[in-house]
Amino acid sequence: MKSNLRRSLVFIPIFLILLASYLFVARSHLANRKSLLETSVNDLRDELLVTVNSYQFFSEMIFNMFIDTERVTGILAEGTATEDPAEKQTLRMELYHTLEPLYQKLLTYHFRQLHFHESTNLSYLRFHRPELFGDDLTGIRDSVAYVNSERVPYAGFEEGRIFNGYRFVYPLAHAGSHIGSVEISISMQTILSRMQEDFGKPAQFVLLRSLVEETVFEEEQDNYIPWQLDDRFLLDKELIPSPEAPEDPLNLSLGSKDLLRIRNALTASLASASPVSLEIPHENEKKILSLYPVTNIGGSAAGYLISISDNYPLTLLKKDFIKITLVYGTILITIIVLLGYILKTQKKIDKMATLDSLTGTYNRHIFSILHEKEDERYKRYGIIYSIIMLDIDCFKKVNDQHGHAAGDSVLSELAELINSAIRKSDILCRYGGEEFIIMLPRTKKLEAFQTAEKIRKAVESAAFAGKYTVTISGGAADVSEEPLEKLPVVELADKRLYQAKANGRNQVVS
Ligand code: GH3
Ligand code: MG
Ligand code: MG
Repeated sequence: MKSNLRRSLVFIPIFLILLASYLFVARSHLANRKSLLETSVNDLRDELLVTVNSYQFFSEMIFNMFIDTERVTGILAEGTATEDPAEKQTLRMELYHTLEPLYQKLLTYHFRQLHFHESTNLSYLRFHRPELFGDDLTGIRDSVAYVNSERVPYAGFEEGRIFNGYRFVYPLAHAGSHIGSVEISISMQTILSRMQEDFGKPAQFVLLRSLVEETVFEEEQDNYIPWQLDDRFLLDKELIPSPEAPEDPLNLSLGSKDLLRIRNALTASLASASPVSLEIPHENEKKILSLYPVTNIGGSAAGYLISISDNYPLTLLKKDFIKITLVYGTILITIIVLLGYILKTQKKIDKMATLDSLTGTYNRHIFSILHEKEDERYKRYGIIYSIIMLDIDCFKKVNDQHGHAAGDSVLSELAELINSAIRKSDILCRYGGEEFIIMLPRTKKLEAFQTAEKIRKAVESAAFAGKYTVTISGGAADVSEEPLEKLPVVELADKRLYQAKANGRNQVVS
């Protein structure tokens, strides 16, 4: 019985191994999920880089072919050298007329600005506003100050007082001397529509509010509106694609929990200018919100490029994980249920294997084991024991007259009666149909006889099931009689029981 129980405990290590392997699978799922999520924002980064690089390439070509020429640098050298404002203006206009056709062409290719600066960072000529010049860009346009001081080209994002975009700034020299710089730039809007065209994915750009407040011309500040998802950022009205959704460029309507998640992710990202990929609910589906930090010349995040995308591998991964979880869950639950069932039935089986189902007394199998042990004690230590055999008289009649169910009640009530008449250390067993055997440890025949008599009298005066009366006959013997009678004690008690029956029943023979 115990070994059966032990066998069923084998399920526990199996359960633990399965649980551990599930945890391992879950952990690797999380790692895969994280790296798949990252692919979304990495795609966005690559699309941005490809787009910016292509414009940078064209800018460089334009610079080398049309701007970095003897004629252009000659005019600029003279214009920046002269102190005479009238002469300076004449030369400025000469430069303007020389490059105006190029500027017009650049506009058709969606370039935004062509802007010359003196080596002292003073604005020399803005092709988009030729009447505005002479203002100092130091501290306002770091890219210009950088190129004028380092005399190397610079390419990158820089917020501006009128527009934000990627600026390609080149140093200019004439006759071996540095004379200033020129900026060719494209707006963020151009980048976004180029990306949409080439990669078919709508992207959006938001700028840090603090940056806008400190850089943008006062009168230009209302070109920006707060970004719906996080008011630390502003959205350039110019970038809003449709008038129907002016505040919500990617049509996001998120709950406060998701908004907080995005805000927290952005707070962490701002500190390190690191990319963010988040899963968000969108139009009854899960989508990936990618936020790629766009850094300015100082290397800190100036804003974020944003896109919403599907991530099919992630969806597949999730589906697979759900399936795996279901399989593991089913197996684990099955094991738990099975183990519970085994333990429960084992208990039942144990009970069934030891006890008689009708009377709750020991069955013959257990009795013989206990008897063997008691006999061993007698043989080794001389500790005596007695056996009583009891049998209901004419029990057939009870069944015949009152039915089998009545007979059953008599049997189980009789067992109760006997149990209450004997000691706890005595062993009562249903030996046959209506025959009981009692083993009484440390008891001699006389005491056994008295006990049997006590039971017989109690039975005689009892009303079973409230109405049936029966009598019993008994035989008692103790183990010390075996050598003399030349019979095992059980058989001796049985023999005496038959004598009692033969003597007319309702009596005990010892
Ligand atoms: P005797 O005095 O000689 O012992 O007569 P008896 O009728 O008691 O003995 P017999 O051996 O002829 O019949 C025993 C009867 O006990 C037969 C059977 O119907 C009944 N019996 C045995 N086991 C059960 C049981 O589990 N339930 C019921 N209701 N009757 C049982
Ligand atoms: Mg009988
Ligand atoms: Mg009998």
